[in-house]
Amino acid sequence: MIKLSDAASDLASDRRTLDRATCEGLDAADPLASFRDRFDLPDGVVYLDGNSLGALPRATRAHVDRVIAEEWGVGLIRSWNDAGWFAKPQAVGDRIAPLIGAARGEVVLGDSTSASLFQVVAAAARLRPERRVIVAERSSFPTDLYVIESVQEAVGGAEPLDRRLVHDDGPTLDDVLDDDVAVVVLTHVDYRTGRMHDLAEVTARVHAAGAIMVWDLCHSVGAVPVDLGSAGADFAVGCTYKYLNGGPGSPSFMWAASRHHDGARPALTGWHGHARPFDFEVGYEPVPGIGRFRVGTPQLLSLSALEASLDIWDDVDMALVREKSLRLTELFVSLVDRRLAHWDVEVVTPRRSSLRGSQVALRHEDGYAVMQALIERGVIGDFRAPDLMRFGFTPLYVSHADVWDAVDVLHDVLSSEVWRDPRFAHRGAVT
Ligand SMILES: *Cc1c(COP(=O)(O)O)cnc(C)c1O
Repeated sequence: MIKLSDAASDLASDRRTLDRATCEGLDAADPLASFRDRFDLPDGVVYLDGNSLGALPRATRAHVDRVIAEEWGVGLIRSWNDAGWFAKPQAVGDRIAPLIGAARGEVVLGDSTSASLFQVVAAAARLRPERRVIVAERSSFPTDLYVIESVQEAVGGAEPLDRRLVHDDGPTLDDVLDDDVAVVVLTHVDYRTGRMHDLAEVTARVHAAGAIMVWDLCHSVGAVPVDLGSAGADFAVGCTYKYLNGGPGSPSFMWAASRHHDGARPALTGWHGHARPFDFEVGYEPVPGIGRFRVGTPQLLSLSALEASLDIWDDVDMALVREKSLRLTELFVSLVDRRLAHWDVEVVTPRRSSLRGSQVALRHEDGYAVMQALIERGVIGDFRAPDLMRFGFTPLYVSHADVWDAVDVLHDVLSSEVWRDPRFAHRGAVT
């Protein structure tokens, strides 16, 4: 297990040392500090929303430009072969594989996470045709629940499959697991609270009940070390525009353990998943391997932006990311405890590091307005209804001094009550 560095533990317990200079000292000793230069962040911004949309890597613009000018502009249709376009969803998948404990040939890029989840959960449910129940979490990112509703219809036959919902406050997984459960779909790190499941332990429990385990890794990949292989999990999906910095709308990935590849029947059977797509046969026949999860033409420009970002991830040691992530979140929570005790701000994220991803959520009755006031001051987090302010800590470009500055501004916003200004109450279409 990775432990907090001694410096951070000292910070948590020693009030006197907790000032901006100490944070700068931690930055000076940070082995990941140089990664910040590989991102293009606007001046005057403390960016704590990389868990929603990762920052722009410096190399992305030139790389995408080159793909547009050379591969599209000059290569034209020839690039499907010459530039490896057709193989790209799996080639990029092979570069994500080490970040999630997958083997080569087990990961493929798809469409949105919602679409990929549909693909994967349907395939999972079809591996247990005699069972009629899908288990999910009530607190899931809602699209996961909506997608499961369509899997219930699509896979159920004459009768839709049933759904059972678990929650941290009960019913628990053990309450609902029985021999009618086909699939369990859980989000490894909760999108609101940052609470993290024990991936291996939960997978083992689900397998003991004879069910298939599907993990949603949207808030895990690039945030915490993930080892799907040694956990023996079955399927997973995840985002690439959050911690992986693939850019807005970059495609999601799907993972299936290789033991399931040849028996898997994904929901959407498109030509890019066909065994011989360019024979243009009338009937569908899935290609062996993870490629059968593909549907149609991949988003090559988005994939190229993601490739530029993965050049950074190729150089990253996830153990160091986890260590710094815990230091940043611990520092943030300590500063909130010490400096914001006067206001009604509650830390919702688990304080035990083993239960925490790379984000911290604070509950405040007027969290929406407080967050808008923070954003106006250059501290960018986001808000999740009804009352949570969310702060994501991306160790490649967030510093300890950033954490200090963010809490400092939050302190200012709360003590001045500037957030009460009506302009902060206006809600855009996207919160
Ligand atoms: C961000 C996120 C999604 C996003 O889904 P899209 O279809 O890519 O918009 C889905 N599930 C979870 C748990 C997420 O955190």
